[in-house]
Amino acid sequence: MNVGVLALQGDFREHKLMLERLGCSVQEVRLPKHLEGLSGVIFPGGESTTIGKLMVAYQMDAALKKFAASGGAIWGTCAGAILLATDIVDSNQPRLGLLEMRIRRNAFGRQVDSFEVPLEVAGLVAPFHTVFIRAPVIESVGEGVEVLSSFEGRIVVARKDRIMASSFHPELTNDSRLHQLFLEKVIGS
Ligand code: GLN
Repeated sequence: MNVGVLALQGDFREHKLMLERLGCSVQEVRLPKHLEGLSGVIFPGGESTTIGKLMVAYQMDAALKKFAASGGAIWGTCAGAILLATDIVDSNQPRLGLLEMRIRRNAFGRQVDSFEVPLEVAGLVAPFHTVFIRAPVIESVGEGVEVLSSFEGRIVVARKDRIMASSFHPELTNDSRLHQLFLEKVIGS
């Protein structure tokens, strides 16, 4: 399967390694032409304002909207989730607005408040070990958006059709089940 990782900023290398372990051929996506032939793209964690600005500078914003409109699947993780949202609390930063949700940046505190916790995720049989680093929280979702996981009553994974968002970093442990879920259930849907 040909999958891309948005490689403008952030920890895209870890996602790439995880996807390669699962047998994917992985394209680093920096320019619109890199999207050709891909069935899905992962947005890494990092700094959403920086990634958003670079997306605009390289015309990746329009290209990714077109990619999604033509059936491409996208999974945004942490900063990547913020870039998918329609509504970012107290921010005008660039975003794609591909998933109807209201998201709040740094909702669990600062870098020092990073934490790890096992969480139930719909579609996975055993809890998934999650890593939260200056993570956002999904405060509300629009109609038809499915909530796949919550932590202390706060939404941390959401999906509608071929767009998925998670607050935490799934690429920083050895557990590849969520990447597998993206490949099989989101891209494969
Ligand atoms: N706090 C960052 C942001 O708002 C996201 C942090 C992360 O991706 N680990 O963009």
